[in-house]
Amino acid sequence: MASIKAEYIWIDGVKPTAGLRSKTKILPGPVQLLNQIPSWGFDGSSTEQADGHSSDCLLIPVRFVKDPIRGGSHILVLCEVMNPDGSVHVSNTRAKTREIAEKYKEHDSWFGIEQEYNLFLGERPFGFPKEGYPAPQGPYYCGVGADKIFGRQLVEAHLESCIQAGLTISGINSEVMPGQWEFQVGPVGALAASDELWLGRWLLARIGENFGLTVHFSPKPMLGDWNGAGAHTNFSTKAMREEGGIKVIEEACRALEAKHSEHIAVYGAGNGARLTGKHETCSIDEFRFGESDRGASIRIPVFTTKNKKGYLEDRRPAANMDPYQVTARIIETVCAKPTSLKKEEKPVKIAQKKVAGKK
Ligand code: ADP
Ligand code: MN
Ligand code: MN
Ligand code: MN
Repeated sequence: MASIKAEYIWIDGVKPTAGLRSKTKILPGPVQLLNQIPSWGFDGSSTEQADGHSSDCLLIPVRFVKDPIRGGSHILVLCEVMNPDGSVHVSNTRAKTREIAEKYKEHDSWFGIEQEYNLFLGERPFGFPKEGYPAPQGPYYCGVGADKIFGRQLVEAHLESCIQAGLTISGINSEVMPGQWEFQVGPVGALAASDELWLGRWLLARIGENFGLTVHFSPKPMLGDWNGAGAHTNFSTKAMREEGGIKVIEEACRALEAKHSEHIAVYGAGNGARLTGKHETCSIDEFRFGESDRGASIRIPVFTTKNKKGYLEDRRPAANMDPYQVTARIIETVCAKPTSLKKEEKPVKIAQKKVAGKK
């Protein structure tokens, strides 16, 4: 049996935005099942996950995929971080998402996440001249040509690696700012979408090394008239995808409205610089939902309106958000309320309210 390289990947404790770490363990290969991959440990004092005198943290493998970089039977192993006694480490946000996804599993929630990011060459956005600024935004989004597109080689290599790893990547596109791109994962369940997003981010940063480019997830990498970077989170439940789903989607929007600030609290650090009401965003202090409205907090896509069922797009999450926290928060807000409301109940309530108001 030939040895294989297993790249153990975990999320660190850096605040306010956690980052990715990884290291390699040689295992007797090949590996077919998760339980063939041993737990491991690391020095938490170097990752803001422990202090110096008691620094051991545990790595518990939770998902593995083929390693598209090393190829062969080599694997990437996504891990949850635990304390030495086996309890959940404070930086481990996946554990809660695991519970929430299980608790509300009969809703069969699907997530599709659009990860925007900016490529940087040193201190400058890739595609920006050494001094001054490039031509204003306009031609770069979904553009073609060496004067508009910066980093396609990296982006193509990343897309291919995601497919080789078996991630449910659903597409890529160049974005509004030079050197800005997006990849999408899903639609799949909360845990899979979040795990795959983190793995996709790791692959991006790792492949960026080969090109000497760094990947930034800052919500507003350049101040001024340059688009920020978001992580639009598309969401549906079984009821939303079925006949009459549009009603369920509208109810969900109202539930999301009532919990706006709780959502913003976990939608990424520094998001206020991005959610200004300009550059296809709704202001961070407002909540609006609307059909095909890219200036809304929640957009109902045109096909959802047409088919009267489908999904909603939460446009608020920032590019640096933690998908475990975002997906768990959305499920809690939308699924915690009863979904078996009779269709007639809601309008009657509103009518009664109006009458009461007139008195
Ligand atoms: P946009 O027009 O906002 O740029 P994209 O095509 O980039 O949209 O992304 C749409 C996302 O919606 C994809 O990640 C896709 O996987 C996801 N998606 C599609 N159908 C559903 C669904 N029923 N529930 C949740 N997400 C979905
Ligand atoms: Mn998109
Ligand atoms: Mn986009
Ligand atoms: Mn979008």
